[in-house]
Amino acid sequence: MRALLVIDYTEDFIAHDGALTVGAPGQAVEQKITETIETFHKANDFVVFAVDVHDEGDIYHPETKLFPPHNLRGTKGRDLYGRVGELYEEIKGSANVYFMDKTRYSAFVGTDLDVKLRERGITEVHLVGDVTDICVLHTAVYAYSLGYELVVYKDAVASFDAAGHEWALGHFENALGAKVL
Ligand SMILES: [Zn+2]
Repeated sequence: MRALLVIDYTEDFIAHDGALTVGAPGQAVEQKITETIETFHKANDFVVFAVDVHDEGDIYHPETKLFPPHNLRGTKGRDLYGRVGELYEEIKGSANVYFMDKTRYSAFVGTDLDVKLRERGITEVHLVGDVTDICVLHTAVYAYSLGYELVVYKDAVASFDAAGHEWALGHFENALGAKVL
């Protein structure tokens, strides 16, 4: 069994005026992400929207020192971006669609994602979204360590750091044994 994880495809990460935006490279993968979600949803595979959430001025959160405030709870910045957001609204009532908050780079840290996958017999995790070399990377590393097979869609992940993006694609393949399609 397989699941699709859609990582952090929100206004703050993708819109031109987003608080921590990937910008054009992020917008360029909108169509491929949308198509991939549609494929998984129609096949009745598990589709997970894993979305960063932060509280403003959280002094205990390590990202507070590293990045401007982003994906703040209850703000438009956390809305799923563009066509991906529209598609989510269409399919969100389905039993195989799961929206989950995450507070760290990895969607597995402090969440019930591993339990949700295991109870469904899922052994293969497919990844799309952003940022390739931050949240997608850390989620992939955790998934690998937990024993999942990995598939990453190179035309459906994006970063504000072109070199980091390329490095991460190599790391997925060479160090995590991922299929990079
Ligand atoms: Zn964050």
